[in-house]
Amino acid sequence: MRLNEARHWVFDMDGTLTMAVHDFDAIRRELAIPAEDDILHHLAALPEDEAAAKHAWLLAHERELALVAQPAPGAISLVRELHTRGYRLGILTRNAHELALLTLAAIGLGDCFASVDVVGRGEAPPKPHPGGLLQLAEQWGVAANELVMVGDYRFDLDCARAAGAYGVLVNLPENPWPELTDGFARDCAELQSMLL
Ligand SMILES: [Mg+2]
Repeated sequence: MRLNEARHWVFDMDGTLTMAVHDFDAIRRELAIPAEDDILHHLAALPEDEAAAKHAWLLAHERELALVAQPAPGAISLVRELHTRGYRLGILTRNAHELALLTLAAIGLGDCFASVDVVGRGEAPPKPHPGGLLQLAEQWGVAANELVMVGDYRFDLDCARAAGAYGVLVNLPENPWPELTDGFARDCAELQSMLL
């Protein structure tokens, strides 16, 4: 697939469309999660009461972050351009659905994404699992290899690769995972310039 012909775009949210603000080490300390553990997988394996309490803390913490979210460089312009072209746009995030909607509204992109196309940790297995991407492909009636997945972390690239989608890495000065990457741009402004 050629990137400038892609009409179905899925974005990671935190660190991709917004400036990265999650301090995952602080979250792990607060919730007593070992440094080497995946936060969502760790919580899923806890006894029900403890998992519920820790999920509630995480949600409250992330709500505070959502309300003060700042757009990443070039993100608004890129998403507006794709929206204006009439392309299908989705979000695949390990954040919660309602907080993703809150975050998108806070950065002024709330009108570019249909609620049903904002897939959070409650709607699909967390990345790097490809389930969320496959779900969006099905919702849009296209094959997964017609999707572009844009993200700032290797989970986003692993997810794209596993689904058969086109994985684009953004918001790093260099690409540490060339073997997992179909496209690379230093930020969303550079990605937009690749679509001309
Ligand atoms: Mg991210």
